[in-house]
Amino acid sequence: MALSDGSAEIIRPDFAFLRTVERRSGQPVRSCFRCLKCTAGCPLAVEMDYPPDRMIRMVQLGLKEKLLRSRGIWLCTSCVACSDRCPNGIDVAAVVDCLRQMSLAGGYAAGEPQVAAFHLSFLDVVRRFGRLHEASLIGLLKLRTRDWLGDLGAGLGLLVRGKIPLLPRRVRGGEQVEKLFRSVPRRNPEPSDKGGTG
Ligand code: SF4
Ligand code: SF4
Repeated sequence: MALSDGSAEIIRPDFAFLRTVERRSGQPVRSCFRCLKCTAGCPLAVEMDYPPDRMIRMVQLGLKEKLLRSRGIWLCTSCVACSDRCPNGIDVAAVVDCLRQMSLAGGYAAGEPQVAAFHLSFLDVVRRFGRLHEASLIGLLKLRTRDWLGDLGAGLGLLVRGKIPLLPRRVRGGEQVEKLFRSVPRRNPEPSDKGGTG
C-alpha cells in the first residue's frame, strides 16, 4: 500500500481473520457489497481513520493488524445506525464491538487509549456491581489514565449537588451478570504494543 509520503507499506493479510470475526460476531461479513449505507449514516465516520464500510472491507481482506490498531473501532459509540441501514442485515456495530474485544485480547495498543480506558473501566464497574456506579468509574478511569486533575471542577460540582452517589449498590442476581462477563477480556490498553494473535 502506498503511503502519503510516497513510501510503501507491506501489508500481511490474515485470511483466517474473516472467519474468526464472522464466528465471534455472528455476522455474515462476507456478504457486504460496499453500498456505503452504513458509513453514510454513521455520525462518527468523519472522525474515523476507517469508517464502518472500510472496516468491514478490511475484515474481508484480512487486514487484521491495521484494523485492530485503528482509532475507528474505539470512536464507534455503538449507536447501531449502521446496523439499521445495512441492506444485507449485517450488524456492523456488533462487528466493531467484536473488533474491540479482539484488539484488547490480542494486546494491541488502542488507537484511542482514553476511550479504551473508559471502555474497560465501565465494564469493570458493571461486572462488579451489576450496574453503573459513577464514583467507581471515575476512580478506575483516573487510575488507568493517570489524569488526576482532568475534569476535577465538573466532578466536584456533581458531587456537591449529590449527583454522584459515593457508595455503590449491587443489583440482585449479580452472579448472572458476572457470568455474562466471563469471556470479556480485562487487559489494559497498554501503550506498549505486543501485537498479539487476537
Ligand atoms: S451497509 Fe452493509 S452492505 Fe452496505 S457497505 Fe455497510 S456493511 Fe456493507
Ligand atoms: S455503531 Fe459505530 S460504526 Fe455504526 S453508525 Fe454508530 S458510531 Fe458508526
